[in-house]
Amino acid sequence: MNKQDLLALPSTNFIDDIIHKDLESGKYGLRVHTRFPPEPNGYLHIGHAKSICLNFGTATKYGGLCNLRFDDTNPSKEEQEFIDSIMESVNWLGFTWENRLYFASDYFEQLYEFAVQLIKKGKAYVCDLSQEEIRLYRGTPTIPGKLSPYAARSVEENLQLFTAMRNGEFADGSRVLRARIDMASSNFNMRDPVLYRIQRSTHPRTGDTWCIYPMYDYAHPLSDALEGITHSICTLEFENHRPLYDWCIENCDVPCLSQQIEFARLNITYTVMSKRKLRLLVEENFVNGWDDPRMPTLAGMRRRGYPPAAIRSFCEKIGVAKANSTVDFSLLEHCLRDELNISANRVMAVLQPLKIILTNWPQGKTEKLDAENNPEQPQNGSRELILGRELYIEQSDFMENPVKGFHRLYPGGEVRLKHAYIIRCEEVIKDEAGQITQLLCTYDPQTKSGEAGSGKKVKGTIHWLEAFSALPAQVRLYGQLFTKENPDDVAEGENFTDYLAQDSLIIPPSALVEASLADIAAGQTFQFLRHGYFAVDLDTKPGFPVFNRIVSLKDSWRKGLLPSQKG
Ligand code: ATP
Ligand code: MG
Repeated sequence: MNKQDLLALPSTNFIDDIIHKDLESGKYGLRVHTRFPPEPNGYLHIGHAKSICLNFGTATKYGGLCNLRFDDTNPSKEEQEFIDSIMESVNWLGFTWENRLYFASDYFEQLYEFAVQLIKKGKAYVCDLSQEEIRLYRGTPTIPGKLSPYAARSVEENLQLFTAMRNGEFADGSRVLRARIDMASSNFNMRDPVLYRIQRSTHPRTGDTWCIYPMYDYAHPLSDALEGITHSICTLEFENHRPLYDWCIENCDVPCLSQQIEFARLNITYTVMSKRKLRLLVEENFVNGWDDPRMPTLAGMRRRGYPPAAIRSFCEKIGVAKANSTVDFSLLEHCLRDELNISANRVMAVLQPLKIILTNWPQGKTEKLDAENNPEQPQNGSRELILGRELYIEQSDFMENPVKGFHRLYPGGEVRLKHAYIIRCEEVIKDEAGQITQLLCTYDPQTKSGEAGSGKKVKGTIHWLEAFSALPAQVRLYGQLFTKENPDDVAEGENFTDYLAQDSLIIPPSALVEASLADIAAGQTFQFLRHGYFAVDLDTKPGFPVFNRIVSLKDSWRKGLLPSQKG
């Protein structure tokens, strides 16, 4: 694209505005180069999806590039498992870094050289204060900090000590390298921030080569600059780290003057989004791993069956702002339904079966019915259903003493079986304990769906399964993990885990699905009529499908996970 074409692109947010200005002024020529910089200390969550869509999306829009860079500067918390899962999630979401996969650890030698340069310029020094002393010396927002007694060390002494730090001559935590900036700065981050610490832990990529590791605030701007990143997009909490970001770029001899731009992080109701908290849920077995379908991780959403297109559409809808806010979970559900309504074929499943006998249906007779797969997609065709004398319907579709407005089945009442006939409940059979065990019904042969019938109309249509062909299945119904709208906001002495919902997973014990689902593959999605959208789980075995409910058809999870007689 030439300059004119680039400038003609619509600006959809304040980041676009900045890019337009930079294109106009030629600050980076016509280059737009972003990066997504995860720390491999956990799995990615839906908040990261916002950052991924923004970084990769912005680069694509302007014909630019986006790198995937792991910020692997803290080996004590970082693992290969996380690196692998992050790459998988970015790809799954639909983005590619092509050959631009980087690691901050690739730059350890270069970053060390920059530190040596800073020392030589008198802009960095080795400090022997303990962590606690550094904190005390740093002062408070109103009281200026006190200069470290070690700030006066000569360049030679600093060079010699820093080399000795690298060579492993000092104990962990005994010394740090600090920038010499301004102990009186109103910005805490500028009060001689730590650049390097001594920490003996084996790094997933550099092994035991290093026992000193650069701090994020130092490594990040310099990694950006080394990669030629033009717009380094990060979340708002880094806003007052920006002067330090700029300081690092200005004081080291780097090839690009990258600029940091902050945007508001994504928060969603009933969800926690910090990796630390998600990690705790996994480690303390509150959930079944990082890919538990209730987790807000991309791995969890993938397993649950969320289509990546729905997540991208969600990220587009929420937009990019400069002020923090919380998005209602129902917006994500809305995006899921929008996508699945088009992509998922309809089938029938009965979660809590109630047996029905059609007493006027001949013994042994079956009839084949034609059922459309997706009314939104006629080209998806139809499938065959079998109707017979014995059927199952949903327990909640019958009421012995119907409340006002109940339009489904009750003694003497009529209802249509989807794709089939109108039936009438003639008799209720109970066991000795008074529990309903089956219903005796009659069907009206003149009322076959899709055929010019008697013109008879009934108010309700219900789903059903033929008893002998119905397939047992495990159906996992998920609710919110938390009972509190903002689980991060807990009172003194409380824990966010105090608000974990007890019923966030319900598995009805005798669910049945259509015989057409005998041979399906993990990841496929369906609409179970009247129950919502479901995906085939990894645990599926031949002949025994396992489903995850992705989302119900209506915003109804607050009312309970199982179908109800109301509404
Ligand atoms: P967490 O706070 O969940 O532990 P983090 O910011 O430490 O996340 P990183 O791996 O450093 O996690 O994040 C990689 C990128 O994703 C960063 O640019 C970060 O700003 C962005 N990011 C993280 N959480 C969110 C969020 N909730 N909304 C938008 N962007 C986010
Ligand atoms: Mg981080």
